Amino acid sequence: MIPGSFAYHRPKSLAEAVGLLADLGEDARPLAGGHSLIPMMKLRLAAPEHLVDLRAIGELRGIRAEGSDILIGAMTTQHEVVASDLLAAKLPILKETSLLIADPQVRYVGTLGGNVANGDPGNDMPAVMIALGASYLLAGKGGERRVAAREFYQGAYFTALEAGEILTAIRIPVPPAGHGHAYEKLKRKIGDYATAAAAVILTLAGGKVASCAIGLTNVGETALFAEEAGRILTGSSLDAETVKRAIAAAEAITAPASDNRGPAAYRRKMAGVMLARALAAAKARAS
Ligand SMILES: Cc1cc2nc3c(=O)[nH]c(=O)nc-3n(C[C@H](O)[C@H](O)[C@H](O)COP(=O)(O)OP(=O)(O)OC[C@H]3O[C@@H](n4cnc5c(N)ncnc54)[C@H](O)[C@@H]3O)c2cc1C
Repeated sequence: MIPGSFAYHRPKSLAEAVGLLADLGEDARPLAGGHSLIPMMKLRLAAPEHLVDLRAIGELRGIRAEGSDILIGAMTTQHEVVASDLLAAKLPILKETSLLIADPQVRYVGTLGGNVANGDPGNDMPAVMIALGASYLLAGKGGERRVAAREFYQGAYFTALEAGEILTAIRIPVPPAGHGHAYEKLKRKIGDYATAAAAVILTLAGGKVASCAIGLTNVGETALFAEEAGRILTGSSLDAETVKRAIAAAEAITAPASDNRGPAAYRRKMAGVMLARALAAAKARAS
């Protein structure tokens, strides 16, 4: 329950943080809210020799519109996501999802950037970012680059982030006004990670689905993009037969572990149930 010893660094700018991480090498890790990293260090599942705390870097905070996108600084807390009027108006699925993460104490400190950079398949935001078609802005000593959320997750705790890189912001294209959205999460109790969860973003035109993107949480080694399921639904009126086929396609890409949240077969079925609920909620909200 006591982490190994480490050196603590608190840079004041992104350039300083990037320089520190480059100098300190693979034994250094960025520290955001610490609500995933510190528990892992206490369990000795992580033992970085240097922590580079990003909390004093103002340029990593804030939520703003930029053209048809919204940019959210990586150090924006989950509570700030809940409280943002801009996000409530343009990307309501983010507030809905944040409110399903842990409890207010965790959300006051845990950051959006930490949630998506962590690479834990149990984190809720990656599936939502996949459904939204978001991309992540990364900065390292080699410069800046942008990686689509759909390509970022490579395995449990294994992402496209290279050693020394910092996620600086999340860029999200704003879905059209009147889009349908939902994040449905099955959990054993308040504050629990998902047994299974599904994120849906869809648009309707003339009563038919014009676009549909689906992300799934905690039913594989990474958050999953249920691309085929979205394709099946596009052009449909979300009739029962088509929804059934889409759910089967989504369940087929899952590979959950059997654990204390239930056996694999149950968790796979729950992914389908969460998707059915999310589709119904998104349809009801779409105009
Ligand atoms: C009791 C409890 C319940 C929880 N329940 C849930 C839940 O239901 N759903 C959920 O999604 N989460 C849950 N969490 C996790 C919480 O949301 C964390 O805050 C989040 O996963 C990580 O964000 P952080 O800011 O705390 O990051 P940290 O813990 O500081 O960092 C996490 C990892 O990401 C890396 N990292 C962080 N920021 C950056 C960056 N900008 N650039 C590069 N790498 C970075 C760190 O090096 C570390 O490896 C829970 C946590 C607790 C303590």
